Amino acid sequence: MAEQEGSGLQVLLSTLQSSSDKASILTILQLLGNLLSVGTDRRIHYLISKGGSEALLQTLLDTARTPSPDYEILLPLFRLLAKVGLRDKKIGQKALELEALDVTLILARKNLSHSHNLLHCLWALRVFASSVKTGAMLGINGAMELLFKVITPYTRKRTQTIRAATEVLAVLLKSRSNSRRAVNRGYVTSLLRLHQNWHTHDTTNTYVLIRRGLLLCLKCITTIWSGREAFLAAQGMETLFSITQNCLDNESMEPVISAVLQILRQCYPKSPLPLVTACSAYAFLVPGSIPSAPPCDPAEEDFEDDGDEEMDKDSDLEDAKEQDDDLEIDMEKLNFRPGLDRPEEELKQYEALCHELSYGFEELESKLGNDLNFEGIQSANHHHIPTAASPKQHCLNKDQSFQGKEREDTIQTSLLSMVKMERSTAYLTSKKRPGMNTYHNTHPNGLGIDALENGISDMQDFLEEDIEAISCPKMNASFSNPTRPRETVEVIDKLLHTHPKHIPFHDPYLYTAKARRTRSVVDFKMIAFPDFWGHCPPPFSQSMLERKRGVQRIKIIEDVRRLIQPSDVINRVVFSLDEPWPLEDTASNCLRFFSKFESGNLRKAIQVHEFEYDLLVNADVNSAQHQQWFYFKVSGMRTAIPYRFNIINCEKPNSQFNYGMQPTLYSVKEALFGRSTWIRTGHDICYYKNHYRQSAAAMGGASGKCYYTLTFAVTFPHSEDVCYLAYHYPYTYTALMTHLEILEKSINPRKIYFRQATLCQTLGGNPCPLVTITAMPESNCADHLEQFRHRPYQVITARAHPGESNASWVMKGTLEFLVSSDPVARLLRENFIFKIIPMLNPDGVINGNHRCSLRGEDLNRQWLAPKAHLQPTIYHAKGLLHYLNSIGRGPVVFCDFHGHSQKKNVFIYGCSVKETLWQANCTVGAPALLEDISYRTLPKILDKLAPAFTMSSCSFLVEKSRASTARVVVWREVGVSRSYTMETSYCGCNRGPYKGLQFRTSELEEMGAMFCLGLLILELKSVSCSHQLLTQAAALLNAEEDTLDHHLQRVLKKLPHKEVSAKGSISEGISSISKIAIAISYMSCSYELCCFIPCILIFII
Ligand SMILES: [Zn+2]
Repeated sequence: MAEQEGSGLQVLLSTLQSSSDKASILTILQLLGNLLSVGTDRRIHYLISKGGSEALLQTLLDTARTPSPDYEILLPLFRLLAKVGLRDKKIGQKALELEALDVTLILARKNLSHSHNLLHCLWALRVFASSVKTGAMLGINGAMELLFKVITPYTRKRTQTIRAATEVLAVLLKSRSNSRRAVNRGYVTSLLRLHQNWHTHDTTNTYVLIRRGLLLCLKCITTIWSGREAFLAAQGMETLFSITQNCLDNESMEPVISAVLQILRQCYPKSPLPLVTACSAYAFLVPGSIPSAPPCDPAEEDFEDDGDEEMDKDSDLEDAKEQDDDLEIDMEKLNFRPGLDRPEEELKQYEALCHELSYGFEELESKLGNDLNFEGIQSANHHHIPTAASPKQHCLNKDQSFQGKEREDTIQTSLLSMVKMERSTAYLTSKKRPGMNTYHNTHPNGLGIDALENGISDMQDFLEEDIEAISCPKMNASFSNPTRPRETVEVIDKLLHTHPKHIPFHDPYLYTAKARRTRSVVDFKMIAFPDFWGHCPPPFSQSMLERKRGVQRIKIIEDVRRLIQPSDVINRVVFSLDEPWPLEDTASNCLRFFSKFESGNLRKAIQVHEFEYDLLVNADVNSAQHQQWFYFKVSGMRTAIPYRFNIINCEKPNSQFNYGMQPTLYSVKEALFGRSTWIRTGHDICYYKNHYRQSAAAMGGASGKCYYTLTFAVTFPHSEDVCYLAYHYPYTYTALMTHLEILEKSINPRKIYFRQATLCQTLGGNPCPLVTITAMPESNCADHLEQFRHRPYQVITARAHPGESNASWVMKGTLEFLVSSDPVARLLRENFIFKIIPMLNPDGVINGNHRCSLRGEDLNRQWLAPKAHLQPTIYHAKGLLHYLNSIGRGPVVFCDFHGHSQKKNVFIYGCSVKETLWQANCTVGAPALLEDISYRTLPKILDKLAPAFTMSSCSFLVEKSRASTARVVVWREVGVSRSYTMETSYCGCNRGPYKGLQFRTSELEEMGAMFCLGLLILELKSVSCSHQLLTQAAALLNAEEDTLDHHLQRVLKKLPHKEVSAKGSISEGISSISKIAIAISYMSCSYELCCFIPCILIFII
């Protein structure tokens, strides 16, 4: 059949080409027209494959080259060509080769006054011009002049032809040579004027498409530099800007508005950032030469079309898949296990960091009687996993002081009772939608109520006078023996006594003492109030911010307004790290800024309007890039006024700020009223590419790097307050050191082995802590010591990237859980030794970096060949892992906690050779490859347990660009098959029980605890799990019966039939082992446990 059809078509086509009989040509054209008017595009493609385009073009030539061309043939022919040409990518080339281009142009010229014929010619020209080469040829042959004759001067006659001509012109102008020609002939001015005429006369928006066509011509011309120059000289910015003034919300104008905005953005003159240098304001003399930044692409004369359309519509963008060509597909490299990266004898030094393996615990025998002394502490140390389901009320209680006292308000829930499915309903009842001013949601009675309760009735008066002084205390202020400035110290001391905070694992006095030992590049003298005073997560959850439609447009138009109405802009620098500060007396009518404190980052603030500031973030120390993290103090505000902040030198091409994320705010007044909390805040938020470009001078010749603006408005909760704004909940190095010391004091040393050692000194001279947590041996008898020393290791690290403070909050949750009295934590301690490096990059954290060390290096790209004197923390973290491995004690799991700025939820990256090869469609060797798939078990468990975790974002691919990360190096060189990066969103979740919510610190801490529970379940599911541990786990489940029975009932409903028999026996109180078996089986993918469950069942019998 197909063959017959094919031959039939070929007969038609060859007849068409050879025939000179008008009637038969018309018949064939009609036949073809009918054929193509029904059915799918496949018919057109079939026609093309059989030489249809060529036959039509040949007929066109034959007909047109007669002394008086016959339009009865030409018109249907043009219609067919336009239709076929749309699908034939080579139509331009074919028309050029067959000289149909010239012929059509001549016909168009002849028909300038014959609108109907001309329209047909234009349809054909539009498809011919779709190839840039043909377009350029048409330009050389005068097509643009011809089209200009059609579209000018402005007329309302023959609008269909005018529309077609603007469309052809827009296509032609995609060729740069045509655009240059257009500039030289002054078309930019003509097009602008013409567009203005249409805009003025077309009041009913009937000819929106002609207006859009003209704008598209301008858009094409202004992609080249001379086009933009001509556009600016012709007052194009002003003209188009005025168009946007009254019709932004007019839907029928949408095609025009979006084209106008594209042109305005494209033509906005590029300028360097208002900074003396792109390099960081902070420099630090480091060993070795500083690695130079990767060279940027040299700037072209022409800016290409940016291609970043409005983000209002494209929320799908955020999950864009990474490129497959980054995958490592070299089998040799994938399977290669390199030798040790240092002399073996060097590993001996790490013996000292594994004190637990050699220590004799002689004291255990003698001090047994002292146990009672720790009872109090032990109960106070019930684990703290602040959750939405059990919000803690610490900050509202008034009669507790920090140390020793039992905290009755701590809700003593077991972690097991909080696993994913248990959470959701309880959780939703507490869900609230915060409005613009979130503070008032929790305290409908208004402000100051807590202060009154606490007997500070004059708090308000007091605050007005002293708040500035206490809002950023000096770290050399000694509270016990104040020397200077006496008054501030006294005020703070009084505040701390009359209004004590009960923030778990925080102590302002200790924080101050620790801060004095923290060494920063510029020697910070002040402490940020939130770090000093402490933070309690708010008791209500915070939804993601719904993006307001058109928010980006409004911002872009405001930016253009600044350009064309410069006299309206104040442009006053009110804060700068580069100049002496304070710059001037800025006490009146403007905000005051400050950032010289630990983790602080703000380089410059420029007041642009009364209530609007442009802000610039500092680059990482010894670097000219990585601006993302910010943390600064702001004061002098008035209430009920939205202040707008524009951070204008961001670097990432997209941000979660476009998808519901808000920055965080801490109000000192709120803290003094008893609500010391970082809270998500800000409205009218968006993130978009701006007109700033890196100047050539700043980067040593290379230029062209783009910058992005994060803009948000904040309505502050109080007048004359002092507030802190940050990219994410800050967590400083000093906070960690304080936290560790309090943790250490809080434990019962008879029960818990908690040892803080120094892994190494950083380049900045700060100790990098290494924490070891396990259970103390029962006694120092040989058996107990044997069990103690043979517990497998788990290694967890975090904060290689200083801007990822979320990773520290997850780590805080992990640490607190591991030393808690939760039965799960006890089991974990009794069965594992945890080696934890909570902050791999202390210097970066201290100095407000986002990504790098003091050498300007990304430490998570240094694991392949770290040097002791250049990347000490990485060198020794790797050394410790190598040491453990060398004594046969490589960890069960290695996990490095990170934060993710582009995705939502919490997820894990692991390493799998097989999955990498599959993903890359590389079949060589893959099928025969045997790989233990246990690397997937932990993330699967976490997916079931942790409300914030999602398996669907996990990936187990080995990318070339990640070859020097902790995850890949520990997997490949140390041979840890479960080597992971755990990524936590800065924003929140878009699935699971927390769907639609932004993370508070409580969810982050909970994730840290859930990670630990995951490690226990992982062990229970492993074949090597001891009977003893299974029994203990079973006993634990028994103890949790009240909460778990409900949980198990749910689980049982979901079990496959074969386990139904167990269901009946649950109520009869069968052995807890079967319960745990059921619980575990629910958490597993069925086949893995097929062999395991029978074992347990045997055990029960
Ligand atoms: Zn990271």
